[in-house]
Amino acid sequence: MTSTLPSSLSAGSSAAMAAAQPATPAAAPLPVSLRIRERLNAADVPYFANDNIAEHLLDGELDQLEIEVAGKVRELLRSLVIDIDNDHNTEETAERVARMYLHEVFKGRYHHQPKIASFPNVKKLDEIYTVGPISVRSACSHHLVPILGNCWIGIKPGERVIGLSKFSRVADWVFSRPHIQEEAVMILADEIERLCEPQGLAILVKAQHYCMKWRGVKELQTSMVNSVVRGDFRHDPSLKAEFFELVKQQESLLS
Ligand SMILES: [Zn+2]
Repeated sequence: MTSTLPSSLSAGSSAAMAAAQPATPAAAPLPVSLRIRERLNAADVPYFANDNIAEHLLDGELDQLEIEVAGKVRELLRSLVIDIDNDHNTEETAERVARMYLHEVFKGRYHHQPKIASFPNVKKLDEIYTVGPISVRSACSHHLVPILGNCWIGIKPGERVIGLSKFSRVADWVFSRPHIQEEAVMILADEIERLCEPQGLAILVKAQHYCMKWRGVKELQTSMVNSVVRGDFRHDPSLKAEFFELVKQQESLLS
């Protein structure tokens, strides 16, 4: 038998070389955020800053995320040249910030919508009413600094009704994400429409943006007001005017 292979590449010697190699170390587990992102990508689910991803998280992953985020915040603090190993004030800041993002200020991304029961509109109520001011707290997607303000919601009831306090709960859940105000109002409107299918819906938000107050142009008094009107509020100008008049009355009660 003849062989054209050089002797160093013969089967016997490559097996010997392989045996001499150190064993491959077991692959490190993927970071939990990467596993979640791969799952979302595979399902073609968007995960922008103001999207909720609660239904795509597996049991225990939120706890793992808290650990991962704390580690990254620790690295951020080190990159900001803060001596977190000796500075007693920042010793556990990373853990606090991770908890704050995942369970408080951005909880509307990682936690399910609070349970909100709706009831049939048995009395066929069709007079409009407004609820407000409802405090809204968010953070701008561009700088992650607070957006704080108030929201008013006007409803012309449809087939279903929900309790007044539920508007605060759903607004808190929607706003507790990084946002731009224009989109926050639209997302809140979508959620309220889904919950109670009103004949008409109007929402007005007036908020101060700390990326304008605290940094940048440092304007202390500027606020942003925007609104969305749908259904009968959109088609009937007198209804829309009534909504803004009711909001004005509620605002005057504050001063
Ligand atoms: Zn900003």
